[in-house]
Amino acid sequence: DCAAPVAVALDGAKLPPGAGLPRGFGLPDDSFAHDGQITRRAVRAMTLAALGPRAGEMLWDIGGGSGSVGVEWCLNGGRAVTLEPRADRIANIAANIDAFGLARWMRAVHGAAPGALADLPPPDAIFIGGGASAAVIDALPPARLVANAVTLETEALLVALHAARGGSLTRIALEEAAPLGRMRGWTPARSVTQWSWP
Ligand code: SAH
Repeated sequence: DCAAPVAVALDGAKLPPGAGLPRGFGLPDDSFAHDGQITRRAVRAMTLAALGPRAGEMLWDIGGGSGSVGVEWCLNGGRAVTLEPRADRIANIAANIDAFGLARWMRAVHGAAPGALADLPPPDAIFIGGGASAAVIDALPPARLVANAVTLETEALLVALHAARGGSLTRIALEEAAPLGRMRGWTPARSVTQWSWP
């Protein structure tokens, strides 16, 4: 017959097809506890693709916000520390670590870059989703690096880094269909400039 395949867990439980979390990047934004400051699904997917997690690798997620980038890194086999200066956002990150069952893989660190970087375990990759500055860049150990900018000031920093060090510079412009009166229209999100190195 053509019965749908059923996943059998280690404890013998039969899980319906499609149960559990999907592999890959870009979970819906509402999968995470967040306050609106979150790297949106499509940009997050492109960010994770640029970061390229490998099993066991350590990510520094600087400007953690909700921790969504660190969470998706860990769901794809990595370990992460997420640095965030705001206590209310640390609470969201902690809730997300718990909800995704990542307590053994991911830790929220309450603090700001560059000061708090010295105490973090050595990284294989670094993501800067907030707090980017020349001082932060200078304080980073060698590692694969991805930085996202939505402000002109941070974008100018990334444009200069691309000129000085190479890597790739990408501008991500997204529009989503949303209600427009009784019809629908394309609604643009703020464009994100992404520098990734090497
Ligand atoms: N990638 C996150 C969203 C980042 S929003 C997510 O997907 O949820 C940017 C964050 O950077 C904010 O939460 C802000 O508090 C934090 N931030 C600002 N300056 C910082 C600094 N110097 N060090 C670390 N984080 C900083």
